[in-house]
Amino acid sequence: MIIILKPNARPADAKAIMKKISRVGLKPLYLPGVERIVLGAIGDERILRDLNLESEPMVDVIKPILSPYKLVSREMHPEDTLIDIEGIQIGDSNFTVIAGPCSVEDRRQIMETARIVKQYGAVLLRGGVFKPRSSPYSFQGLGEEGFKLLKEASEQYRIPTVTEILDEGDLVMADQYVSVLQIGARNMQNFRLLKAVGKSTKPVLLKRGMSSTIEELLLAAEYIYYEGNHNIILCERGIRTFETATRNTLDLNAVAYLKLKTHLPVFVDPSHGTGIKELISPMARAAAACGADGLLVEVHVNPREALSDGYQSLDEAEFAEFMTGLDPFVRAAGKSFNSGQGE
Ligand code: PEP
Ligand code: MN
Repeated sequence: MIIILKPNARPADAKAIMKKISRVGLKPLYLPGVERIVLGAIGDERILRDLNLESEPMVDVIKPILSPYKLVSREMHPEDTLIDIEGIQIGDSNFTVIAGPCSVEDRRQIMETARIVKQYGAVLLRGGVFKPRSSPYSFQGLGEEGFKLLKEASEQYRIPTVTEILDEGDLVMADQYVSVLQIGARNMQNFRLLKAVGKSTKPVLLKRGMSSTIEELLLAAEYIYYEGNHNIILCERGIRTFETATRNTLDLNAVAYLKLKTHLPVFVDPSHGTGIKELISPMARAAAACGADGLLVEVHVNPREALSDGYQSLDEAEFAEFMTGLDPFVRAAGKSFNSGQGE
C-alpha cells in the first residue's frame, strides 16, 4: 500500500503512522517527496485494512500497489533509481558500458583486456572467476586466483569490477575483491542466494533467467531489495524460445516494459542474447534506442584462444568500432555515455 499524507503533514506525523504499521508486523517505508510525504506498508494487505489508516487526520489517500512486486515498482518509487558504484553513477541519463572477458584466464589476458575496455570507454570491467558451465568438463573458472587477478587489473586500470557468484559461500571472497556481484541467469531464482546478496553492501547485477518471465525477474529483485540492498541493476540477456538460429532470443520488449514498471536501471547483454558476433553491435544499438541504461558486453584480447564464449567475444578493433557505432543511438535516446568521472 502507498499512503499519501496531506500537504501539511510533518515528519513527526509520518513517524507516528509508521509506528502503527510496524506494530502489526508490516514493513513501513518512508518516501519523502518534493511536495508530500509518502509512506509505504509492505506485507499482508488485510492486516493493513484492519488498521483503518483512512481515519488518521494526516492521511490523504491510500492506494494499493497492484503488482505482485512492490518495492521495486514504479508505483512505489516514480523516479529512476541512481546506483553509485565507487563514484560512478548508474541509471537516469547515464549510459554505462560494462565489458570484459567471459572468464578471467590468466594475468596477461585480464590485464590486456582491461586496458582495451577502459581505453574505448567501458567504465566497469566484467570477468567470471566461477563459471556456471553446462558441461562439467568445460573450464570452471580460476576461483580465488581469478579474484586476485581481477583486483590487480582493477587497480592498475582504475576500473571497478563485476563478477558472478554461484553460492552464498562465495560472498566472503567476492566482498574482498570485487565491486559488483553478478547473479547469473541460472541462479536468478536461487532464493537463498538472492537473500544473501540482499544483505550485502555490494551492488548486484541481476540477470534474467533464460526461462523466466519479466514478473519473475522483478520478484527476484524484490527479494534482494526486501533484505535491504537497494542497489540492483537488472539485465536482459535473452531467453529460450523455439528459435535456434541465435543462442537466445534477446527480448527487447522486456527493456521497454521494465522501464515502465520499475525504477531500477535496466541493462542488456547482447553477447549472450545473440551468441553471434555480427549481431552484437546491431542489438546493442537497438537496446540503447529502446531505453536501456547500459550494456554488458564480452570482450577478449584474443577471442580465438578464449577458454569460454570466445566466438561471441569482441576483440580490440571490434570493440572500438562497437563503441563508436553506439554513440548516436545513445544520444538519440537522450542519454550520454558514462565517463566514470562521477559527474
Ligand atoms: C556471463 O555473463 O558470463 C553469464 C554466464 O551469463 P548468463 O548468466 O546470462 O548466462
Ligand atoms: Mn559468457
